[in-house]
Amino acid sequence: MTQSLQNKVVAITGAASGIGLECARYLIEAGAVVYLLDRDAKALEEKTAELGSQAHAIIVDLFDYKTVDAAVAQIVQEQGRIDVFHANAGAYVGGNVWEGDPDSWDSMLHLNINAAFRSVRAVLPQMMKQESGDIVMTSSIAGMIPIMAEPIYTASKHAVQAFVHTVRRQVAKYGIRVGAIQPGPVVTPLLKDWDQARLEANIKAGALMEAKEVAEALIFILTRSKGVMVRDLVVLPHNFDA
Ligand code: NAD
Repeated sequence: MTQSLQNKVVAITGAASGIGLECARYLIEAGAVVYLLDRDAKALEEKTAELGSQAHAIIVDLFDYKTVDAAVAQIVQEQGRIDVFHANAGAYVGGNVWEGDPDSWDSMLHLNINAAFRSVRAVLPQMMKQESGDIVMTSSIAGMIPIMAEPIYTASKHAVQAFVHTVRRQVAKYGIRVGAIQPGPVVTPLLKDWDQARLEANIKAGALMEAKEVAEALIFILTRSKGVMVRDLVVLPHNFDA
């Protein structure tokens, strides 16, 4: 039997924009209590207010690890548990390696890898205590196949895949499911970092999709029966790579 999301306690990182925000919207529609975690205080406040009383904002900078721990403690204090953790925040850098700015790589790698892994680590003890929980990471199609236009981003999402597949095995015995969604290109502010020619070619080819497609995939993952799990869910625009 599929599981209901009514009154489930969910935390989403990078929830003030794009995919995270749309996932928050869908989860609230499904009856969940959603904590939106983001460092963009202004957007976070505005968007949380729009989402209504089931939405709660916590300002978290994933690079400032104390804020992540404090957010987890606050949610547990207010709700007594965390049912779902969506490690979604991420950044993008593309382009040829020989022309790249290694400092911008470091910042992206730090967010997509170190900070994301640390955020998952922060919620695990609570989920182990509960003997239940769902962790879903927003990976990317770049976590499954090498995308030539974006070597460093591809490498970051391959690291996410390695983490998901190993941590999943470590915590399965505690009743915790760990999986990932691998979207193709989604129309969000993240695409502002694409080069213009690539963006135009994708728009022309209809090779972009809306954030709601990822939100629907997340709802599918979270509503599976307790005895099964979706480990990876690749969601692509129909014309991707055509
Ligand atoms: P987005 O830029 O719209 O949203 C990212 C959010 O993360 C922003 O609200 C930002 O403030 C927040 N954030 C950034 N750094 C942070 C930090 N240090 N602490 C807390 N919050 C921080 O991007 P998006 O497209 O919604 O991307 C979300 C995830 O989806 C990322 O992991 C991205 O790699 C992945 N993804 C995106 C696409 C795409 O085409 N947009 C495709 C595949 C995967």
